[in-house]
Amino acid sequence: MTTQRTLCIIKPDAVERRQQGAILQRLLDEGFRVLAMRQALISRPQIEGFYAVHRERPFFNELCTFMTRGPVILLALEREDAVQHLRNVIGATDPAKAAAGTVRKLYGSNVGENAVHGSDSDENGRIECGYYFSGMDLV
Ligand code: ADP
Ligand code: MG
Repeated sequence: MTTQRTLCIIKPDAVERRQQGAILQRLLDEGFRVLAMRQALISRPQIEGFYAVHRERPFFNELCTFMTRGPVILLALEREDAVQHLRNVIGATDPAKAAAGTVRKLYGSNVGENAVHGSDSDENGRIECGYYFSGMDLV
């Protein structure tokens, strides 16, 4: 196992419910180091670029509308095996199918409004941290 970077986004549904503090504490308790953190209102072009891999999917428009409806918390995280560990901690995409105790089970509402994003590979972890943070922001 090696040290990796991964991007977590606390999505608008969780921020609206004031759950960003509880989710951040969970990430800290799981051993992630916060390299950078920022609240942001993501623009439509920015989120369309971020989720470009999904642009042909039927839920793409709904996803982009959701992700831009209010502030999110962007987190560049570092840890041993960070990508897989974050995926384990957040759980399955659909909160109804997520394991007990996972962030999406605890805080997600449905397959679209599922509280958090986590990168899905080592390469995407680096790309996604770079999408929202410059190298100078990472400490
Ligand atoms: P994950 O976030 O678990 O990696 P995906 O990359 O497949 O999941 O999808 C990206 C995001 O798109 C999901 O987190 C969720 O917000 C949304 N999404 C995925 N599938 C659906 C769906 N069937 N209907 C609505 N929104 C969806
Ligand atoms: Mg994904």
